Amino acid sequence: MLDVNKIREDFPILQREVYGKPLVYLDNAATTQKPLCVLDAMREEYLNVNANVHRGVHYLSQQATDLHEAAREKVRAFINAKKTEEIVFTRGTTEAINLVASSFCESQMKAGDEVLVTEMEHHSNIVSWQLQAQRRGIVVKHLPITDEGLLCLDDIETYLTEKTKLVSVAHVSNVLGTINPVKDIIRLAHERGIPVLVDAAQSAPHMKIDVQDMDCDFLAFSGHKMYGPTGIGVLYGKEVWLEKLPPYQGGGEMIDKVTWEKTTFERLPFKFEAGTPDYVATHGLATAIKYMESVGLDNIEAHEQELTRYCMEQMRSIPNIRFFGEAPKKDAVVSFLVGDIHHLDLGTLLDRLGIAVRTGHHCAQPLMDRLGIAGTVRASFAMYNTKEEIDILVAGILRVAKMF
Ligand code: PMP
Repeated sequence: MLDVNKIREDFPILQREVYGKPLVYLDNAATTQKPLCVLDAMREEYLNVNANVHRGVHYLSQQATDLHEAAREKVRAFINAKKTEEIVFTRGTTEAINLVASSFCESQMKAGDEVLVTEMEHHSNIVSWQLQAQRRGIVVKHLPITDEGLLCLDDIETYLTEKTKLVSVAHVSNVLGTINPVKDIIRLAHERGIPVLVDAAQSAPHMKIDVQDMDCDFLAFSGHKMYGPTGIGVLYGKEVWLEKLPPYQGGGEMIDKVTWEKTTFERLPFKFEAGTPDYVATHGLATAIKYMESVGLDNIEAHEQELTRYCMEQMRSIPNIRFFGEAPKKDAVVSFLVGDIHHLDLGTLLDRLGIAVRTGHHCAQPLMDRLGIAGTVRASFAMYNTKEEIDILVAGILRVAKMF
């Protein structure tokens, strides 16, 4: 299995104190901490390799390019994509979804056509489409959820009409932790010839992703939520789709030939990578993936599932606790409220005890409206968290609850 104590040694930040208390970091759905190997790899590249990538004839540029393209291959293998041409580096999930929204809506949709999302999406998978709706007159529909926090899949067929041109859905909800049955959704959409984008921001850090098995048309995730650096993410797209879509941004790196009369574009994936890429961050991301693989994706998943189960079980003893998201298939996220204590008060007082949790609407305001609340407190787990930390959280909540 997984040796948490050994893993924790790789993350020095976990040893620090806040307000004189040992840090209990339970805000991993927002961002994870970084292991030393990632920091070392990036420092080493800046120290000894740094040069701009692609087309450089000199030694350093070629070495930096090799690292950058090796990172692309690492990502390809990590999600089992067929080709590196299908791996586009972006700034993160948000930019990846915006890229598809912009290029897909421009080339594949007309006014009145529909994109189907769900009621549990992060704003990045809502607002990106709403921007296109304003510009192009397309319609954004959403699949509702049950009180338990599951998608109402029985209704999905009524939402998939001849007007539906794309389905875009979170693999795992960042608020509810629900693991959505994306394979079923993709099958139902494909039966009608509709492509599917999967927002894997909250699944790629926790479970093995296989884009060929899933058969998704697009998939997006962020490096910083999976032990990698900030500012780097991935858009996977099936080659047939990426070939069809126009470039998202213009600039260097993405062109074949530029004249005043006509400009032609680079081959995949460079057509979608205008400007100098964050080539040090891609190397950092590849190092993070190697680190996750050395621990073992199955071990990480099993450990975090156990933490989630244990957390829910222990928290049930807290008087007047309300959970948001009780799906049987749930991962690494526990959202809750206690009595009528405001989420911000609870989060602030837990912080004073050294416990870092997130409070608020978690960039999912339509979901908060559906649940009839302003926000929740959210504890979210990573491979380095322990049951002892959950015990500290539960004791902390009980202590705060007593004060009210
Ligand atoms: N989708 C989901 C489900 C998320 O949890 C997040 C991050 N909270 C995002 C998208 C956006 O990710 P990023 O800010 O890294 O682009």
